[in-house]
Amino acid sequence: MARYTKAVCRLCRREGEKLFLKGTKCVTEKCPVSRRAYAPGQHGQQSRQKLSNYGLQLREKQKVRRIYGVLEKQFRRYFKIASKTKGVTGHVLLQLLERRLDNVVFRLGLAVSRSEARQIVRHNMVYVNSRRVNIPSYLVDSADTVQLKLKEKAAKAIRENMELCKERTVLAWLEFDSKELAAKVKRLPEREDVRHPIEEQLIVELYSK
Ligand code: SF4
Repeated sequence: MARYTKAVCRLCRREGEKLFLKGTKCVTEKCPVSRRAYAPGQHGQQSRQKLSNYGLQLREKQKVRRIYGVLEKQFRRYFKIASKTKGVTGHVLLQLLERRLDNVVFRLGLAVSRSEARQIVRHNMVYVNSRRVNIPSYLVDSADTVQLKLKEKAAKAIRENMELCKERTVLAWLEFDSKELAAKVKRLPEREDVRHPIEEQLIVELYSK
């Protein structure tokens, strides 16, 4: 189960925008995107050339991959599923990413970032329909219930996370009971539920070549 383990701020600098990969910790003046507004690496300070169409498509795909913490192989697999599913391919692709269990834990405000949400899932704290699921890429379905069952120490950490994330609005497709740390998937997420500024059509064009 591979994942990116290097400095995440480099990824934001590469995309030239804040991707909030550290979640609530990103709301700081020390954010490298504000302090060093150029790509990382030896040639990063050279002025950015105007991107070709291909370049724009590639950067959009990389940005979305990085936001959701998905590696290339898996991202391509999501695209393949989306292209075979009825509906607008770009929307289905984003829907698949939103349905990931780690994303649901993040969206509920139980983790400050998606990488932390991933850890929570990996550490056997999450139950879907009363069955323990420790696979971050597990896709929730409508009418599923997602619940955290925690030991005392972990419960304290999760409550602290909830306090840090209290400004985060739980999306309309999820219904959250903060006392029970349980949520119900009311329906599948739709395009307008994805709050990130994403041009999914560019990704569809890239993979359709
Ligand atoms: Fe990205 Fe957050 Fe690092 Fe800023 S602080 S570069 S938004 S991960």
